Amino acid sequence: MDYQFMHPAEQIVQTINRIYRKQMTTTSGGNLSVKDSDGNIWITPSGIDKGALTPSDICLVKPDGTVEGKYKPSVELPFHKLVYKTRPDIKAVVHAHSPSLVAFSLIRKIPDTAIIPTARLVCGKVGIAGYEVPGSIELGKKIAAELKKGTDVVIMENHGVVTCGNDLFDAFMKFETLERCAKLDITSRLIGKANPLTDEQIELANEKGKVPLGEFIPAEISSKEKDIRTKMCTLIHRAYDQDLFSSTMGTFSERLGDDSFIITPYGKDRKLLEPQDLVRVDHGWREAGKRPSRSAILHKMIYETHPDINAVVVAQPTNILAFGITRTEIDSRTIPESYIKIRNLVRMPYGINISHPEEVAKTISAKSPVILIENDSIIAVGTTLIEAFDALEVVEFTANTIIHGGLIGKIVKITDEEVKTIDKAFGLD
Ligand code: 13P
Ligand code: ZN
Repeated sequence: MDYQFMHPAEQIVQTINRIYRKQMTTTSGGNLSVKDSDGNIWITPSGIDKGALTPSDICLVKPDGTVEGKYKPSVELPFHKLVYKTRPDIKAVVHAHSPSLVAFSLIRKIPDTAIIPTARLVCGKVGIAGYEVPGSIELGKKIAAELKKGTDVVIMENHGVVTCGNDLFDAFMKFETLERCAKLDITSRLIGKANPLTDEQIELANEKGKVPLGEFIPAEISSKEKDIRTKMCTLIHRAYDQDLFSSTMGTFSERLGDDSFIITPYGKDRKLLEPQDLVRVDHGWREAGKRPSRSAILHKMIYETHPDINAVVVAQPTNILAFGITRTEIDSRTIPESYIKIRNLVRMPYGINISHPEEVAKTISAKSPVILIENDSIIAVGTTLIEAFDALEVVEFTANTIIHGGLIGKIVKITDEEVKTIDKAFGLD
């Protein structure tokens, strides 16, 4: 169900569950709140297992200050109250001790949000609040001082992070994006030096949002289309759970006919996507009232160029993206599985997927099914959706093993001779 129609207590439970399941908070850490249209604040209880909350555990703080509920509200209620008082436009707050952002809070620095285009667009300017004891009014004042400058996201020194939004999903998305960005920043430093994007390059990603497709009203939905939609949703949820997709980043498409395909929608929560949310693109037209993923034109060109490709996936998993951010060479000849599934991994410059999608469509093929776009994404194709999904998984695992192998010793690659034997055994040549 859409967050918009959910009771605040239900929204809070779903969101804290997501945060906990993705190891972005501990059983005791963090708190969430929502301010409803009557001015009530719904907030997580203090010190109650964050991995097992139910809606009836959520506390209600009325505008007159009275508290209702089974438990005491979070010790951080003072700062949540001050946030809402300082910025009446804010309707939800996420506070957590997620590992990568806490790492930054320990060195008292802000992660570089210019290493991927989305982080700056989603999070805006990030502030930093000096250390104060948890639960104190002083902590609230330091956070509020940052929010007054117009920022919605604040790193708390030696503590964690606070993100604010016009609803809980908005606040969560900023939190998830900044944590991902911090993790990318840290992972990149394990293999090289990160190359941040310029303001113009980040702006280019905004341009990508304008998908020039007219609308059509579908006359009917075939059984094949229904099957594709259902199976695609199952795999999208799996990609989210496997950390290959985030709540709004990650695109799948599958060919439906000669010049038609089904694609993920733009900006919709991947965890809760349902078959009717997916968008049909047919002969260059999009289903009325829906917005396809921003890379729809690229998908269309790939299907046009390669009749043997039936599925495309675009994602931003951490380890492989670190290679794109640091412009570090990556060779798939590590284990046979990596070489067989990735073959020759091609790296292309940032922005080419937006300015020259036809170049990407020409370069990707069954022989080079994976392309790394610097600072942006990994694109994988397959004859089936599961094949494209597998290629994505394999490239992320491969990057992970190269990073970690490199930390413990010198990596030995499979030789050219051994590659030839694999080519022969698996009919790749
Ligand atoms: P609560 O359980 O009281 O919300 O405390 C957790 C926390 O993160 C304090 O900063
Ligand atoms: Zn805390």
